[in-house]
This record gives sequence, structure tokens and C-alpha cells, in this order.
Amino acid sequence: MINIAIVGSGPSGCYIADMLSKKVADAQVDIFDRLPTPFGLVRAGVAPDHQGTKNIVRQFERTLSRDNVRFVGNVNIGSDLSYDELKQNYDVIALTIGALRDRKLGIPGEDLAGVYGSGEFVAWYNGHPDQAGLNPDLNSSGIAIIGNGNVALDIARILAKTSSEMDSSDITAAAQAAIAASPVQDIYLIGRRGAVEASFTNVELSEFGELERCVALVEPAQLPGSLPDDMDPKAAKAIEKNLETLRSYAINMPDSKPVRLHLMFCASPVNIIGDNGKVCGLKLERNTLVDGRAQPSGETFQLDVQTVIPAIGYRSEAIDGMPFDETRGIVKNDEGCVEAGVYTAGWCKRGPQGVIPANRADSMAVAKQIIADLESTPPQGNRAGYDVTGPLLAERGVCVVSFTDWQTINQAELARAENGKPREKFTSVEQMLALLN
Ligand SMILES: Cc1cc2nc3c(=O)[nH]c(=O)nc-3n(C[C@H](O)[C@H](O)[C@H](O)COP(=O)(O)OP(=O)(O)OC[C@H]3O[C@@H](n4cnc5c(N)ncnc54)[C@H](O)[C@@H]3O)c2cc1C
Repeated sequence: MINIAIVGSGPSGCYIADMLSKKVADAQVDIFDRLPTPFGLVRAGVAPDHQGTKNIVRQFERTLSRDNVRFVGNVNIGSDLSYDELKQNYDVIALTIGALRDRKLGIPGEDLAGVYGSGEFVAWYNGHPDQAGLNPDLNSSGIAIIGNGNVALDIARILAKTSSEMDSSDITAAAQAAIAASPVQDIYLIGRRGAVEASFTNVELSEFGELERCVALVEPAQLPGSLPDDMDPKAAKAIEKNLETLRSYAINMPDSKPVRLHLMFCASPVNIIGDNGKVCGLKLERNTLVDGRAQPSGETFQLDVQTVIPAIGYRSEAIDGMPFDETRGIVKNDEGCVEAGVYTAGWCKRGPQGVIPANRADSMAVAKQIIADLESTPPQGNRAGYDVTGPLLAERGVCVVSFTDWQTINQAELARAENGKPREKFTSVEQMLALLN
């Protein structure tokens, strides 16, 4: 038998498990996750009001139910089992641990109360147990979100929607209530560069044209008249679509709805201003663009905000003994190869970029490499996989969550949903484990 361990049951781990469990003869694939719940950021990152995107889990469920695939949930590699113990007991290891540790802005005031990294904020409203206790203070009339990607837009939209607009989502009840109670009037979405360079996509941007209580605004002067002639036609088409949407926002009336989303370009945060340890403003510097690059202009201005949410990217979490690139915040690798018998894919391999389908292509390429290496250097067959790691976990008192256990948790979440919501997530590991006794 070929014993394969996959660390992380997000899209990248599930895609690799799918291919290896089908294509490697006599394979046993054990897919570990530190949470009792599978699917990584599909559950804890993808916006709760984008339920369609989450349908991909049907495909992953089929993979995890296969006879030669074992979901080993609630097991943290690094504390419950070490990286070295995995290497000793598995023929192949694939590290697909994702990246959800917030990158820092590196400006004064970042440690003030009222500053929440987008990773922790998104994890909070999505019910990730790590952030159940975040309880962000949203008693703010102004909220600044720093970043110009889809994650920044997701956060702005979740804050801007009414509670009833969120009833078809699986946002946690606590987050839904906290956002509904917030007196927010102005949400600022701040990009270092211009509208042309923004990385958000039109589907997400256009949603702000349809919100009940929020109007999207942009200064007409911040939008370019035309695009450079030498631009790649495909990129130009996508940007032109965004500009068209932004032009429609530029003629919106600020007072037409109670909440305003201000899309602000060419500005960089300089420092977060505090009063008694709590955010009371944000100082920014205007940038000019030189060949698409932001250059500080020296002109500063201030926003009256009490909450700041940087959405500027993520790093992976290092595991003891695992080769790690500290500078890039990813697993150290060469085209997915980490060291003999150890591979990596997904966000922890490439950095936090790319939507779910991008991980499929990446995982397929790494799985093909694994298969080629297994053919050229067949394992000696003396690694016992779960026959050793299972008893080790039991000895250490770790309560392993199987795929059947996850189905029990899943059913309980579906059953307790109210007001038309698709599910009400459990936000603590203890709550989930209590269902299994
Ligand atoms: C806020 C947000 C919104 C997004 N929205 C969309 C969207 O709408 N559409 C889209 O296509 N893509 C979206 N994405 C991108 C998508 O989520 C990623 O492309 C994808 O989840 C990356 O997959 P992954 O498997 O590499 O990592 P992840 O999904 O992060 O999975 C990593 C898994 O590893 C586990 N893990 C980590 N450390 C350990 C450890 N030490 N031991 C055991 N397990 C561990 C984690 O618990 C997790 O389950 C979004 C991302 C974010 C952050």
C-alpha cells in the first residue's frame, strides 16, 4: 500500500486527494485538517452571501467519501502530530495548508483597538473557531478597508448589506447581529494605485449597484478617460468593464441612501490615528501614478474612521521542521517539490493568489509530479501510515473527526438554521465535538 498524507482539506488538498486516490494503485490517502470541518476557505473565506461558489463542496464531498480516502479532522500538524512523524509514517506528503495569517501594513497605529486584519475579520463573520471571540467593535460611523481586491469588496459588501439581505447567507448569527447594530454611514475602500490597476473583478464591483441601503461613490476625476493603446486586449476589456461600472457610480447622489461606499484610488495609509488606545482616524497620502506605479505626492489628508481593516494579503503559518520561506511567507518549494517525498500546492505554495479553479490546475500539476516520482522511485513499503498515526493520536487524547462525524456536524448546522438561512455554523470546536458523543 502507498500511504499518502495530505495536510489541509481546502480546495488544493481535495483536488490532490481526488487525483491520487484515483490514479495511484493501492493508495490510501489520509487528509488531515486542524479543524473538525473540511474545505478550508470555501467555508471560512468565500463570502457567506456567495452561496453558489460554495457548491464546489459537493465535488469535494465525493472525494472525501471514497473508500481509500480518510478525512482526519481536528488534527493540527505541528502540535497533535509533528511534521517529522508524518515523514516517518507516510510515503508521500502533500502540504496544502493555505495562507490566512494577515500581512501587516507596517505603519504606526496598527496595534490600536479597532484595527482588524481582513483574514481575522472574514474568519469571524464566517464562523472560523479561531476568530469566534474577535467581537470587533463596529460602533463606528466610518470604516476604512485598505486594499483593492475582491476580499476588500467582500468585506465592504457584508458591512453594507442590511440584515435581511444577509438572510440568504450563512453569516454567523453573532456577526449578522453585530453588523446590523453598527451605526456605520461611510465605508472607504482605499487603493494605493488607480482604478485601472485595481485587482477586483466586475461581478463583485457591480453588486454595489444593487444594495438596499448603500450607494457606491467615486470621484469622477479619479477615473481615466481612456486606456493606453498598447494594453493587452483581454485585460483592457476587463478594465473597461470596471471603468464603466465606476463611471455609473460617479454620478450617484451621496444622500440617496443611508450608507455610502467611497471607492478611493491613489492613496496610501501613512498612520492610523488613536485616542486612548482606540482608532479615531486614518491619515493618508495621495499618490501619483508613474507607469502604473504609485509614487507618494507629499499631499496628505485624513478620514474620520473608528475601524480600519487592512486587506493586503496573507502569509502561511510555518510548521516546525517544515521548510519555510520567511520572506514570502510560503512553504519553501521548487515547482511544488519541498524535499524527498514531500510536495506542496495551493496558496501555501504560490502565495495567496488565485480563485478556487486556479488551485485545481496547480494541484493537478503537483499530483502528476507525485505520480511520476512514485513510478521512478517506488517506495519501500515500510511506512504504515494511519496504522501508526491513528494510535499515536488516540494515545495523545486527540478527538479525531471522521468524514461521517463531519456529516453529523453538517446536518446539525443545516437543521438549526432560521429565517431562511442555509445553515447556522457552530463557531467553537467544543460545540462540534459535543455533537459526536
Ligand atoms: C476572503 C476570501 C474570499 C474568497 N472568495 C473566493 C471566491 O468567491 N471564489 C473563489 O473561487 N475563490 C475565492 N477565494 C480564494 C479561495 O478561497 C482560495 O483560492 C482557496 O481556498 C485556496 O485553497 P487552499 O487549499 O490552498 O487553502 P485553504 O482553502 O486555506 O485550505 C487550507 C486548509 O489547511 C488547513 N490547515 C492549515 N494549517 C494546518 C495544520 N497545521 N494542520 C492541519 N491542517 C491545517 C486549514 O484549516 C484549511 O482547511 C477567497 C479567498 C478569501 C481569503
